[in-house]
Amino acid sequence: MTSSVKPRPWTGPHVSGDLPGPRSALLLARQERQESNARTYPRHLPIALAEGSGSFVRDVDGNVFIDFLTGAGVLSLGHNHPELVESVTRQLGLLTHGLDFPTPAKDSFTEAQLSMLAPGLRKRMKVHFCGPTGANAVEAAVKLCKIATGRGDVVSFQGGFHGSTHAAMALSGLVAAKEPVRNTVPGVHFFPYGSASRCSTGLAPEDCAAYLEHALGDDLGGIPRPAAVLMELVQGEGGVIPARTDFVRRVRALTRSLGIPLIVDEVQTGCGRTGTWFAFEQYGIEPDVIVASKALSGIGTPIALILYDAALDTWEPGAHIGTFRGNQLAFAAGAEAVRIIRRDDVLGNVRRRGEQIADRLTELMAHPWVREVRGRGLMWGVELAGPDDGRPATDIAAAVQEHALRHGLIVERGGRGDAVVRLLPPLNVTAEVVDTACSILVEAVFACSPRFSVHPGRAGSGRAT
Ligand code: PMP
Repeated sequence: MTSSVKPRPWTGPHVSGDLPGPRSALLLARQERQESNARTYPRHLPIALAEGSGSFVRDVDGNVFIDFLTGAGVLSLGHNHPELVESVTRQLGLLTHGLDFPTPAKDSFTEAQLSMLAPGLRKRMKVHFCGPTGANAVEAAVKLCKIATGRGDVVSFQGGFHGSTHAAMALSGLVAAKEPVRNTVPGVHFFPYGSASRCSTGLAPEDCAAYLEHALGDDLGGIPRPAAVLMELVQGEGGVIPARTDFVRRVRALTRSLGIPLIVDEVQTGCGRTGTWFAFEQYGIEPDVIVASKALSGIGTPIALILYDAALDTWEPGAHIGTFRGNQLAFAAGAEAVRIIRRDDVLGNVRRRGEQIADRLTELMAHPWVREVRGRGLMWGVELAGPDDGRPATDIAAAVQEHALRHGLIVERGGRGDAVVRLLPPLNVTAEVVDTACSILVEAVFACSPRFSVHPGRAGSGRAT
């Protein structure tokens, strides 16, 4: 198909003058007056966005940035992918909103989604379309399991993030968001996450599974048999922390033996982000419920769903309703996104560009303030911590984010103390853009950490101050 929508001819980042530029400053000031104190991104990334194309975004002052935030992992094929724009535009003239009626667009989308599952799983999974956010789908998954099992407790993991609605927040690790909100959902039990990283979560990673096995198997363990165990395979907001394979397999074996549905939250890891369609595939397990949202449409038209074992399908009609469950624009784009991802071997690109990032960021690993560089596919984090005490280097991470922005790269932060600089590039990003972005990031880390104000590669000395 030839597209009438032409990508903008941006080939590299370009920032002139201070940030925010004058036009951005105006809109940011108006936003501050008019919008909620709970707004987040523009506090750390003070720009006002005008337009995007592929891996680039332009602010209202004409500055062009490499966008490695991509709408928090939503824009899997970059900004305004021409073929997705075309499919959305075509659908716009046909039907936009369809509640949960069947439509040709929805049918193609559902077929496309199911086609990405392994044949065995595909046969036993059903789909429920939820309200169009990850959090809403998490709520649906938990309700489904509570109804099917008749139980009320849920196990979740420390460091995890599942959304901002009441139950999703109750299931998330982020204490600061919960503390001001009294009486969140009861019956949630947190266990340590068996992480494959050096990130410190208290217990030795190999003991995490044993602890859970003991607690759930012990008749004096204090926890009634839960309705579900909920986990991310790579904790995204928690600081890009992949789970250990043996941990995930033991959680799967335990939940299966005790008849507890295992929910995997693939809101961030799903749709190719980690190099396979879903991250659980890399762990050699099959979950009972999969939660997906962010990148399902590839272009940011909102949509969320759960895929679940048909044996759990005991809830009644209307058990999880919502007005915005029939976004035909998202269906049209999502079916097209799957076609493009297959045609262009986008998952292969995720793996190759992921290796490139690992390679390019190796030079950071010896840096005293870099605790770890870690990731899967195109989901990467650089954790900054004090070389002596190992404490999260929040200020340095903030300075790195700001320095990167001033040099034309948008990155996010997350993890404990917000000290992990996070990369979420589009899945079809080119080698050239990855190379430029990594150079900006490496330079930023060297420029912003004490004792290293000049990158040795450029200045010939690693200890300039
Ligand atoms: N689960 C995970 C793993 C997420 O990363 C997020 C969002 N960052 C959510 C759930 C919540 O999604 P939403 O913001 O669309 O509600």
